[in-house]
Amino acid sequence: MHQNWARNLTYSARELVRPTSLEQLAEVLTGDEPVRALGSRHSFNDVADTHGVHVQVDALDDGRPAVDPLTPDGESTGVVSVNAGLRYGEVSRGLHATGRGLGNLASLPHISIAGAVATATHGSGDANQSLASSVVGLELMTPNGELRRLTRDEHPDVFGGCVVSLGALGVVTRVELLTVPTYAVRQDVAAHVPWDAFVSDFDAITGSAYSVSAFTSWDEPDVRHVWFKSLAGADGGNRPDVPASVRSWAGAPVHPLPGVDPAACTEQLGVAGPWNDRLSHFRLEFTPSAGDEIQSEYLFPRRKLGAAVEAMRAISATVGPLLQTSEIRTIAPDDLWLSPFDEPSVGFHFTWLSRPAEVLAVLPDVERALMPLGARPHWGKVSTVDARDQAELYPRFADFRQLADRLDPEGRLRGGLVGRLLAD
Ligand SMILES: Cc1cc2nc3c(=O)[nH]c(=O)nc-3n(C[C@H](O)[C@H](O)[C@H](O)COP(=O)(O)OP(=O)(O)OC[C@H]3O[C@@H](n4cnc5c(N)ncnc54)[C@H](O)[C@@H]3O)c2cc1C
Repeated sequence: MHQNWARNLTYSARELVRPTSLEQLAEVLTGDEPVRALGSRHSFNDVADTHGVHVQVDALDDGRPAVDPLTPDGESTGVVSVNAGLRYGEVSRGLHATGRGLGNLASLPHISIAGAVATATHGSGDANQSLASSVVGLELMTPNGELRRLTRDEHPDVFGGCVVSLGALGVVTRVELLTVPTYAVRQDVAAHVPWDAFVSDFDAITGSAYSVSAFTSWDEPDVRHVWFKSLAGADGGNRPDVPASVRSWAGAPVHPLPGVDPAACTEQLGVAGPWNDRLSHFRLEFTPSAGDEIQSEYLFPRRKLGAAVEAMRAISATVGPLLQTSEIRTIAPDDLWLSPFDEPSVGFHFTWLSRPAEVLAVLPDVERALMPLGARPHWGKVSTVDARDQAELYPRFADFRQLADRLDPEGRLRGGLVGRLLAD
C-alpha cells in the first residue's frame, strides 16, 4: 500500500507500476482493472485514487528526449514537449540553461507537470494564469491503448476540457508547454501590513510585483508577511513600488511557516536570480512546506476579497489554532472547463496541522464563510464539499462528463473523487 506525499492518505490501489515504454503503458491501460495516473503524489485528497492499478509515467521512454523543443521546419516555436511525469524543478533547470522560461510556478518545484496541470495548480500574480494555461498540447493514452495528440490550435472544441482533466480522460504521456525567454526575479518580503490597509490597498499591493503572496494565520493583528517577486532585469531591479501601508521589510530570510528554518526557501532579501530559483517559495533539494501537514484551498472571485477577509477574520479564533499558515494569492482567468479561475481570482490557502479529525471539523466553518462568495475548492486539496455540489460549480461540467464518457466508456479511470464527481 502506498501513500501520498503528506501521508494523510493511503491509496486504495492494488499496485503501482512505472512503464518504461508506450507498449507497456498500453498493456496496463487495456487490462481489465480500474487504472489511474499518479503524479508525484502531492495531492492531499483522493483525486488520484483507484482500487486498481496506479501508473506513473516518469520513467517512460517514448524514443524522444524527455525535454524536447518543438522545431517544425527547423523554426523555434517556443513550445517544449516534456515527459508528463517530470517535475517542474527538473524541467525548469533545463529550460533556463537553454535561455527559456515558464510564465509561473507553484510554491514548490517538486510536483509533476501532468499532476499539477490536471488539478489547475497555480502560483500567484495578477497577470499570471494557472500552470495549466501554459499547456498548448498534450499526448494522452486512453483506456483502449490509443495514443492521441491534442492541441489548443487543432482541437479547440475539446482542448479546454483536456488539460485540467483530474486524470479522468487517460494517461498523459507528454505535455507541450509554451515557454518565454528566460528572466530574472528578485524576492523582497514585507512584514506586518495592517489588515485594513491590506484590503483597501489590495490592488496596489498585488499589482506592484510580478507575483505576490501574503501569509497570515487570520488571528494575528496584521498580515504577517507579504512576499513580492519582482522582475529584476539586468541591473538586479529594485524593491517594488508599494503603497505607504507597506512600511517594514524583513531584514533576514523567512519561511512561510513561522519559526521554521528558511534554508528550504528560495533566496530573498532582494537578490536577483533566475525565475526558476525565485518563483517557487521552496527549493527542489529541500522538503517543501512542513511535510507533516494537511492542505486546503478555496478559490473565489477577486471582487469578493473584502468580504472574504472579513468572513475569515470572524472565524479566526477557531481556525488560527489549527493553522501552520495561510497564504493569499491572486490568479488571472483562463478558459479551461474545470479551471476554478473563470474571472480574476484570489486563493485562500490553508496549511493545517496534521490533525485530520480537527481539520475536518473546522473546514465546514471555512466553507460556510467562503462558499457563499463563489469559492471553489482546489481539486487536489482537502475539503468537505460534496463532489456533486463541487461539479455544479463548473458551467462546463456536463461537457467534461461527455468527454470522459467518450474517452473512457467503461469508466475504468473513475476512482476516488473522480468517481464521485462522475457518478450517475
Ligand atoms: C507542499 C505542497 C505545496 C503545494 N503548493 C501548491 C501551490 O502552490 N499551488 C497549487 O495550486 N497547488 C499546490 N499544491 C497542490 C499540488 O500542486 C496539486 O495537488 C498537484 O496536483 C500535485 O501534483 P502531483 O504530480 O503530485 O499529482 P498527484 O497528486 O499525483 O495527482 C493529481 C491528479 O493528477 C492526475 N495525474 C497525475 N499524473 C497524470 C498523468 N500522467 N496523466 C493524467 N493525469 C495525471 C492524477 O490522476 C490526479 O487526478 C501543493 C502541494 C504540496 C504537497
